Amino acid sequence: MTYLPAGDRYETMPYRRSGRSGLRLPAISLGLWHNFGHTRPLETQRAILRRAFDLGVTHFDLANNYGPPAGSAEENFGRIFAEDLRAHRDEIVVSSKAGYYMWPGPYGEWGSRKYLVSSLDQSLQRLGLDYVDVFYHHRPDPDTPLEETMGALDAIVRSGKALYVGVSNYTSEQVRAAAAILKDLGTPLLIDQPSYSIFNRWTENDGLLDTLDEVGAGCIVFSPLAQGLLTDRYLGGIPEDSRVRTSVFLNEDALDEEKMGRIRALNDLAAARGQSLAQTSLAWALRDPRMTSVIIGASSVAQLEDNVGAVANLDFTADELEAIDKIAPA
Ligand code: NDP
Repeated sequence: MTYLPAGDRYETMPYRRSGRSGLRLPAISLGLWHNFGHTRPLETQRAILRRAFDLGVTHFDLANNYGPPAGSAEENFGRIFAEDLRAHRDEIVVSSKAGYYMWPGPYGEWGSRKYLVSSLDQSLQRLGLDYVDVFYHHRPDPDTPLEETMGALDAIVRSGKALYVGVSNYTSEQVRAAAAILKDLGTPLLIDQPSYSIFNRWTENDGLLDTLDEVGAGCIVFSPLAQGLLTDRYLGGIPEDSRVRTSVFLNEDALDEEKMGRIRALNDLAAARGQSLAQTSLAWALRDPRMTSVIIGASSVAQLEDNVGAVANLDFTADELEAIDKIAPA
């Protein structure tokens, strides 16, 4: 059936400016790392993407290697985009990345100009798009000069194949160096994409938000729910269709008794706020106004709706923040 987006889609989602750029992103973005490969039904994927857009989620985060198999998330997004969303291209921000292993040989990963330019060309073909809105270097490359990697990002913007560029998994020190090179080239750094959650606070020790503020870039975090640990998903045992059972990226060791105790305590705290644990975890990750957006994953429409519901209460009392720090120290 032809998809007609909800008329009220811009009424509840807050949009936050990415650093000092002109681009505003939804406080909640949707990532397609898991749940959008050829191993998942296309109709479930379509339902999640349609509902996301209906709820004001205008930003979809992809990468060359998302699937499985690698590349299939871009293909599936491209297909659903062409069928349902193309008329709304100018209301949508599509991001992709290159940096991790994608194809064999010396040109299929890391940060050379050769790899980044060809990987983006492949992504555009899979996505069925002329350009992506944001193109990221996915992880720092210890061997390629940063001048080459940033030079490639600048050239990509000039070629019209990306509107903005970002970096991912870069520390403060790496962000400073990257931003300075990009500034000289005349292409500002839009954003950094680190991991961050109540259970993973390396960016706080690194001073990353201060650094990004200094250089005028935004911050968008991945795995804000610790891949599902910071939800009610595992409170009653390990479901067969959960990430712990279906992915190599999360395993049972992450759910020892100590961790389960913390999850239960956080769940009680969330309930006292009138929220689900997922909602409180997302609101917590967004509590600093310099945080541009959190990228969630969702394997169902119900999870997506639960997560987007976080925006109804993004405020914390000092007591609540202190209690969270006690349950899960930084
Ligand atoms: P999350 O921490 O949001 O975990 C998502 C998973 O948690 C879902 O697949 C689901 O797992 C479970 N879940 C989500 N919402 C709920 C809910 N309301 N109730 C119960 N369970 C829930 O994020 P991801 O780890 O998926 O990462 C998000 C995105 O970040 C990725 O898609 C990608 O775009 C980006 N990313 C970027 C990286 C980088 O290096 N730049 C690395 C990793 C991710 P289940 O399958 O069990 O249902």
